[in-house]
Amino acid sequence: MRIPIIAGNWKMNKTIAEAVELVNAMRDPLLAIPSVEKVVCPPFVALDRVAALIRGTEIGLGAQNMHWEEKGAFTGEVSPLMLQGLCQYVILGHSERRAYFGETDAIVNRKVKAALAHGLTPIVCVGETEAQYDAGETEEVVRRQLEGALDGLTADQVASLVIAYEPVWAIGTGKAATAAQAQQIIGGVARAVLARLYGQATADVVRIQYGGSTNSKNIAEIMAQPDIDGALVGGASLKADEFVAMVRITAEVYSR
Ligand code: PEP
Repeated sequence: MRIPIIAGNWKMNKTIAEAVELVNAMRDPLLAIPSVEKVVCPPFVALDRVAALIRGTEIGLGAQNMHWEEKGAFTGEVSPLMLQGLCQYVILGHSERRAYFGETDAIVNRKVKAALAHGLTPIVCVGETEAQYDAGETEEVVRRQLEGALDGLTADQVASLVIAYEPVWAIGTGKAATAAQAQQIIGGVARAVLARLYGQATADVVRIQYGGSTNSKNIAEIMAQPDIDGALVGGASLKADEFVAMVRITAEVYSR
């Protein structure tokens, strides 16, 4: 059975002081909820402080991006070597990275390989834009992005990944995919691609999250879908009560 994973992507929000306040507000309530993996992904500058607050607990820490090289003349970038030992997860290929910073599937692939080589678990994001959705290209886009991001990985490496299906039209819009839509793409496309490329046994263990305007009102229905193993949460992860509620509801759904 796949353990559900709820990860909060704080994006470019929260100063260091605000990040400390937010994690302090959610830490104990999150730790009281069993059977769901919880991860927070603050901005780079807050990682060290947040790490100190959750060290030794069951709350995981993730970065939101990473360069693929260990070091060098890459002004402004952060390397896997710098993240190694500081956090366990790294979000890669988020649609905002793809849209605003020119990340291609080939770049995401280099980052995924670098993360794995440094013991970090990538949360690999895929998803179609609104125009691609309207054009009926969702399946093709998700297939292409997955094949590109995972190119050259072994089945064991793929088994260790977390994948997030995030339709771009649902991110930050308040217009979440329906549970049935999310299940159809995650089960019928993403997991099917994994099964074709890496075998059914591998596909069966990979955790695939849904992301896009999830909140405490819609999470139960989404989490009840057989192929959806958690959520990558943006806006709602910035409010302690809301994020804790989403984790709690996920635990309830899984305990049924
Ligand atoms: C995200 O950016 O990964 C995301 C899912 O954002 P939101 O929950 O705000 O739609």
